[in-house]
Amino acid sequence: MMSKKAINRYRLPVPKNLLQRIDRTSSPAHMGNLRNAIDFIVDEQTPVLAAADGIVTFVKDSSDTGGSNPIYWDYTNFIVIRHPNGEYSRYDHLSYHSSKVKVGQRVKAGKEIALVGMTGYTYLPHLHFQVFEVTGINAWTDIDTLEVQDFDTFN
Ligand SMILES: [Zn+2]
Repeated sequence: MMSKKAINRYRLPVPKNLLQRIDRTSSPAHMGNLRNAIDFIVDEQTPVLAAADGIVTFVKDSSDTGGSNPIYWDYTNFIVIRHPNGEYSRYDHLSYHSSKVKVGQRVKAGKEIALVGMTGYTYLPHLHFQVFEVTGINAWTDIDTLEVQDFDTFN
């Protein structure tokens, strides 16, 4: 499947000094329209940072459930931010009740928005991150992830 590259620049969505490694390929979930998703391997409770300026369009942090089985897929806590030019970023597996933002809130790149947890379908503590665009009528299913090759770092 062809991949479009993201137009925006994105910064690292976790503090650089806490990042253990970046994994783009190991997760069995990174297929189809999620093929450009990126996992940032970090410890639980690591701060999650907005990757670019934008407006928060979705927040769920009510789940305290997760594990290494696909039955946990829908239990992920996650945040979505809409950026200028229509690109979105999404942050998954967030810790229970850790969101520091609300829907409609404007955020700056680098703002702490939540903490990494183990909610949803996840084998080891990490932040699942994806940049995507909406390609159809259904903003949940009609999406395609965009390629982000490198990230800006400020720490
Ligand atoms: Zn992932």
